[in-house]
Amino acid sequence: MTLQLTHFVNGQRTAPSSRTQAIFEPALGEERGQVSLASIQEVEHAIACAKAAQPAWAAMTPLNRARILFKYKALVEAHADELAELITREHGKVFDDAKGELTRGLEVVEFACGIPHLLKGEHTEQVGGGVDAWSVNQPLGVVAGIAPFNFPAMVPMWMFPIAIACGNTFIMKPSEKDPSVPLRLAELLTEAGLPDGVMNVVNGDKEAVDVLLTHPDVQAVSFVGSTPIAEYIYSTGCAHGKRVQALGGAKNHMLVMPDADLGQTVNALMGAAYGSAGERCMAISVAVAVGDEVADKLVAALKPKVEALKIGNGLSAGMEMGPLVSAAHLSKVKGFVDQGVKEGATLVVDGREVSVAGLESGFFMGGCLFDKVTAAMTIYQEEIFGPVLCIVRVPDFATGVKLINAHEYGNGTAIFTRDGDAARQFCNEIQVGMVGVNVPIPVPMAFHSFGGWKRSLFGPLHMHGPDGVRFYTKRKAITSRWPTGLRADAEFTIPTMK
Ligand code: NAD
Repeated sequence: MTLQLTHFVNGQRTAPSSRTQAIFEPALGEERGQVSLASIQEVEHAIACAKAAQPAWAAMTPLNRARILFKYKALVEAHADELAELITREHGKVFDDAKGELTRGLEVVEFACGIPHLLKGEHTEQVGGGVDAWSVNQPLGVVAGIAPFNFPAMVPMWMFPIAIACGNTFIMKPSEKDPSVPLRLAELLTEAGLPDGVMNVVNGDKEAVDVLLTHPDVQAVSFVGSTPIAEYIYSTGCAHGKRVQALGGAKNHMLVMPDADLGQTVNALMGAAYGSAGERCMAISVAVAVGDEVADKLVAALKPKVEALKIGNGLSAGMEMGPLVSAAHLSKVKGFVDQGVKEGATLVVDGREVSVAGLESGFFMGGCLFDKVTAAMTIYQEEIFGPVLCIVRVPDFATGVKLINAHEYGNGTAIFTRDGDAARQFCNEIQVGMVGVNVPIPVPMAFHSFGGWKRSLFGPLHMHGPDGVRFYTKRKAITSRWPTGLRADAEFTIPTMK
């Protein structure tokens, strides 16, 4: 029997929906089952369950909510191999990378375990005669998360651990391309002791998303995905009175200075450009070489390494790159490469025709390397989201910074150099949300917040860390005076503290 994935609502998997969509195993290029696409009524039911569960959950002490998360962490660790295998089968990334994704997600669970501390408000004694003031951080109610295909475990875990730790109940809408792991993550929460209805998963497409964006009982929406959809989520959610954080696409540049250590830079570029077949929002897709000499050395050192990438089923040992997520995405990425050639970039390594012996139907391609890419080219302007690295040559540091700052996206960037002055100036001047100095993929740790600038993020608050707690709570300020301090007469001017 093929896999039938439904929804997880009120502590259990539901019956299938009337509409379904195929799920693929990209390494084999074969259908592995069907996922239900929730109807309006099914999403409304999940919201009603989450709403019913919320008051009791919010009334539980933060310490007891944290204790469930501690158990959850241990359970996810115990199931790490099973979960990573599900990621690899449906996404395609190699098994060790899938385990790494789980680790990064679990770090947010670990952060959320500190919720008794994180929820503490501020207190000032004696703001006036006999008057004290303090603030509390209270949950919003029912909140929703919508995730992309490329991190089916980590991105949901950027959201729900903090949301529920704060006392909210949650509706997760995973990507319809790899829904197995989010369903298992939700089931493990129930096993850890989470009350029914606190964490719900609805699978689906635009129909399900639109209910979450417009329903009056959903207070906030976290989104991660492509920029056009992020923009739609932000404007529609805000128009319906919701708090929204919507993270979008990226084009991440690495500025390579003439003094950078070539060996380290090339290794960093290989991992950051071709890891997960380039399907990472923090992948480096542009290397900006300062000077022709640097560019020539980079191309010479990268070419043999890109040609030698070990490509295959992510479940086989020793692989460096798996397939792309779908046949449609594979042909889109190859289309970008065709366009790059047409527009005059130099294709140093052409991976378009690479296939894997025994897995000829899999959605594989090889790594591609372009040199002499210019800012006017489509392959520079648009997010490719595949194993394609573009080298842009600039004459100096200032031109490199100007180039990066002019790009519409501002998710991540890095500088490789041994020059502290250049690195410091880069950190100061660059218009990008996450910056690495000799760190190619500067994904902030869970106790910091993750988010880009410009058209890589819509909304004021980043994800997880302090911003995550801020996003999933509302602050209440309380000012208190007891009868001994109260005046006997009415006061008609605005209260001021004497
Ligand atoms: P996507 O935008 O196609 O889909 C994301 C989610 O939106 C999915 O759950 C999908 O079902 C839903 N969706 C798709 N079309 C919709 C529509 N018309 N209306 C409502 N909902 C819709 O993105 P993807 O292809 O799954 O993921 C890749 C993208 O995500 C890339 O652009 C990547 O850069 C981005 N991403 C960004 C970050 C970040 O932190 N900024 C992290 C990971 C991925």
